[in-house]
Amino acid sequence: MKGIEGTAGLVTGAGSGIGRATAKRFAAEGAQVVVADVDEDGGHETVEQIEDDGGDATFVETDVTDESDVEQMVEETVDTYGQLDFAHNNAGIGAEMVPLTEQTEDTWDSLYEINLKGVWRCLKEEIPVMLEHGGGAIVNTSSVSGLGGDLNMTPYNSTKHGVVGLTRSAALEFGGEGIRINAVCPGVIETPMVNELLETAPDDVEQMIIGRPMDRFGQPDEVASATVWLCSDDASFITGHPLAIDGGVTALH
Ligand code: NAD
Repeated sequence: MKGIEGTAGLVTGAGSGIGRATAKRFAAEGAQVVVADVDEDGGHETVEQIEDDGGDATFVETDVTDESDVEQMVEETVDTYGQLDFAHNNAGIGAEMVPLTEQTEDTWDSLYEINLKGVWRCLKEEIPVMLEHGGGAIVNTSSVSGLGGDLNMTPYNSTKHGVVGLTRSAALEFGGEGIRINAVCPGVIETPMVNELLETAPDDVEQMIIGRPMDRFGQPDEVASATVWLCSDDASFITGHPLAIDGGVTALH
């Protein structure tokens, strides 16, 4: 993809699933990548996989709920690779599917801290560095849950709507200064997060894909390629856009 080779950036939640696939795809396109994750083992595993494929990556242990961790993640990217050209703010958690009246404050708080405020903390540290270096491209991970309603997933769904709003508003603020900010909105993607839901609530997960246009789960690589493309020069006039990668789910009414 145009303009990725020779760049450097970071991916949060890169120790598993979609983040791992994106970090690997950036590296395969010739970028240097900081693999950021709260999970040390998963992060090191991603770095090993990238190095085995001949790529260049560094693990930085990062909890996106911790402001100083996020600050350090951005600092280490610039210290190690000299620049921050792209960022994929992807770290997130799912939640048990529970009716609204049975949900707890704890569930709401942890989902908001990680899925929404985690993305904001990353933007807050990344944007000043990108401004200093003349621009950059950022992709935040939302979801199809950020584009429409879901049954029994109110807190998760509202964090993902929040990520779309955050993306659009930040894109307006910094579009004139050379920073493009977009979101990916995956449908059901076969990752450990979904495998866990399949174990606890298989019927609910089946409901999400039965009768849908492409009638299958998506793969992490299918989100990774769209994310790297959004950061490439091939997407140079796209900003503030929530891109559905969902096998047509949001095309249904
Ligand atoms: P995953 O569980 O495979 O990976 C998530 C990663 O985020 C893990 O490595 C985990 O350690 C990390 N993480 C969790 N909390 C963190 C924190 N506080 N700080 C740093 N890292 C943290 O899940 P995934 O399916 O790859 O999900 C990635 C993103 O995609 C999430 O934001 C998720 O909401 C979103 N998403 C997933 C799907 C899907 O179907 N899998 C669909 C739509 C959106």
